[in-house]
Amino acid sequence: MNQIKPNSLAARDIAYHLHGYTNAVRHEQDGPLILTEGKGIYVHDENGRAYIEGMAGLWSVSLGFGEERLVEAAVRQMKKLPYYHTFTHKTSSVTVELAEKLIGLAPVPMSKVFFANSGSEANDTVIKIVWYYSNALGRPKKKKIISRQKAYHGVTVATASLTGLPNNHRDFDLPIANIIHADCPHYYRFGKEGESEAQFAQRMADSLEKLILAEGPDTVAAFIAEPVMGAGGVIVPPAGYFDLIQPILKKYDILFIADEVICGFGRTGNMFGSETFKLKPDILSCAKALSSSYLPISGVMINEKVYQALRDNSAKIGTFGHGFTYSGHPVPAAVALETLKIYEERNILAQVRSVAPAFQRELKRFADHPLVGETRGIGLVGAIELVKDKRTKEPFAPQQGVGFQAAKLCQEQGLITRAIMDSLAFCPPLIITEAEIGEMFRRFAKGLDATWAWVREQGLA
Ligand code: PMP
Repeated sequence: MNQIKPNSLAARDIAYHLHGYTNAVRHEQDGPLILTEGKGIYVHDENGRAYIEGMAGLWSVSLGFGEERLVEAAVRQMKKLPYYHTFTHKTSSVTVELAEKLIGLAPVPMSKVFFANSGSEANDTVIKIVWYYSNALGRPKKKKIISRQKAYHGVTVATASLTGLPNNHRDFDLPIANIIHADCPHYYRFGKEGESEAQFAQRMADSLEKLILAEGPDTVAAFIAEPVMGAGGVIVPPAGYFDLIQPILKKYDILFIADEVICGFGRTGNMFGSETFKLKPDILSCAKALSSSYLPISGVMINEKVYQALRDNSAKIGTFGHGFTYSGHPVPAAVALETLKIYEERNILAQVRSVAPAFQRELKRFADHPLVGETRGIGLVGAIELVKDKRTKEPFAPQQGVGFQAAKLCQEQGLITRAIMDSLAFCPPLIITEAEIGEMFRRFAKGLDATWAWVREQGLA
């Protein structure tokens, strides 16, 4: 337990601030980690201690901290036109430029982009567009959206429903109607004894088709997937999975939505995860690395088929009744444009491809550790799953908090990582060098050994 001094920032945080994704009792005891500045892949706390940001914040600060050009882009735009909206046929010049740029970058031909502020708002908009689309086509029964167990698509009432994690449903009376969850394609956890990866992928596809048939194809409007599941534990799909799934969606006239909120903008070694896994989405949501998270902005791209239905419907009923005060806000739009320009100028894809092999090699090195069940990843995202029994894959009991303890011990070593149950996630800024990757995993190795010592002390394994 930390000593919290009265009237310190920590004490005031405990007194006044309700944190998201934080255990209230633990927070009252231990207080917050207060960060005050950042440079490159490092952030510093209020005592001047430096940490490697192994998660790029929330999978998002792709250009690292202290990128002056993004600050300048924001200041320039603030001075010129600090706000405008996109309702009633209005917009600002940078917003037009950003829309054009994004449609140009899209992994498949896309027609229009709608702007919002967060991944949740983008996906909430996706749900509304899907429903609007079905109504526009005169198919009022075709409204169900299939997501997957362990998916993460946001926290609004509707997107938390898409999210397939018990913590986001239990005690919030979710999911809402018309949202269903297919199986999670995690081979290590859900593959059967003796089942090959290809057989597992086939079983996942078969069970999706069964689900569609059981629900009734004329009631299923869309299927949503992250190319690599992020907040559910960095789950890379088994080879062939999406190749098997996409024809099934086509067969039953079901829209395919790619949630690129984490994978978008280089994370998997291509501009979009859709390219890495050969996805052909009708709708694509993106956020986070779009602005390197320096300001909030997200986007929803829709293809021509979806746009035409929306267009024809508004010809009948009038205005498209959706939009946020800050949709297409010129300041985050200017920062996003500058971010995309930097990705191009510094060839961020070549950078990711050049350091990703070292990152993946370092991850795999931990496979022999007695606490490690699986290491997994692609590009510059990965996870290391801790288990009680390496041979049987038996996990620790959730209340033992092994993952949480490991993240805490890594933090003591000057590394910020994220515990997702007992998986430790890594998603560093895309600008990380090979030497910095080495340093990140040296710190992790010390944290992991300290966790192993703690597990034995507590008699947990
Ligand atoms: N989709 C995915 C794949 C995400 O990872 C996240 C956030 N981690 C979201 C949606 C929600 O984004 P936000 O937190 O900006 O609402």
